[in-house]
Amino acid sequence: MRHRINIFHPVFIFILAQLAWLFLLGLWIYWYVSNYIILKQVGENFAPQIAAKSTNLVALVSGLVLLISVLVGMYFIFIYLNKQLSMTRLYDNFIANVTHELKSPLASILLYLETLRDRKVPQTRQQEFVSLMVKDVNRLQSLINSILKLSGIEKKKLIAHYHVYRIGDAVKTLLGETIELFKLDPDSVRIEGDAPCTCVIDYNALKVVVDNLVDNAVKFTSGTFHLTIQMSCTSKFFNLKFIDQGIGISKNNQNKIFHRFFRITKPDIPDIRGTGLGLHIVQEIIRSHGGKISVFSEGENRGSTFTIELPIYQVSKKRFLKHLLKATKKLEKQSDAA
Ligand code: ADP
Repeated sequence: MRHRINIFHPVFIFILAQLAWLFLLGLWIYWYVSNYIILKQVGENFAPQIAAKSTNLVALVSGLVLLISVLVGMYFIFIYLNKQLSMTRLYDNFIANVTHELKSPLASILLYLETLRDRKVPQTRQQEFVSLMVKDVNRLQSLINSILKLSGIEKKKLIAHYHVYRIGDAVKTLLGETIELFKLDPDSVRIEGDAPCTCVIDYNALKVVVDNLVDNAVKFTSGTFHLTIQMSCTSKFFNLKFIDQGIGISKNNQNKIFHRFFRITKPDIPDIRGTGLGLHIVQEIIRSHGGKISVFSEGENRGSTFTIELPIYQVSKKRFLKHLLKATKKLEKQSDAA
């Protein structure tokens, strides 16, 4: 694997600053030692005050350069350490969340199985237990899929099948599937507008996007759940909005929520399940389609709006489209051959 050297990496800059520092120090000592006797003699014979002044000026400039190099190095090392620290903190939270997410469905499945094994459970209750176990298994599966997707994203190895869709229809079908999956009341989800334009998408990847955004809207609404989905097409883009009336997001957290592992933790927010992976995966999927995702919220307890913008088929860059469709054909040939 080839690694590109990033010359703006804080550690690299720090090393350069230290080398500059040492070089200047060496130069300073060399200059001082080699000129000291001459300068002293000249100064003593002619004008000691002038000689002293010029020496001071060079010494001052070198000293300043030296000091600035040290400060620049310290500054970058500080930023780098800070980033590392917050990453480690987020990662620790992630491990704690994943452990919790794995343990609680497993514990409940075990409990149902033990009850079924040790007691005489009536037929109707058995059905109920099985449904609850299926729900827990689905939860585990979705968690494992998120982790696998993240590792695929990081290795740039997401397998994608791109096709051209009338996007409004595709999104409506996806929403129907999501409502079914999360057992939502269809009246709580309102679809406004239509999108007759066409886009090149990977249907399954877009399903991950819709599932995550709807799931978040449900999780982060404490009162009655209500979600409005707005669709429209411009001459260049397909716009899709998810507008909820949930707990909202403060302004300073709005651009952080797409970072991997990031979750908002506040004592007054009840313990809501999650890992902080969902929106990061969503953003990567939208980017891989050449689109953008953003969030807007008036603030806490004032709902959130997630806006997705995807290029329509006619304006998607030709090279980008060719690349996507070629990759899909290759995959299809491989699976036909297998
Ligand atoms: P998870 O849902 O597993 O916590 P996400 O990456 O999906 O992870 O979301 C990151 C964080 O963004 C959430 O923990 C939550 O604090 C915030 N968030 C996401 N969606 C919403 C929403 N619709 N309303 C309020 N906050 C949200």
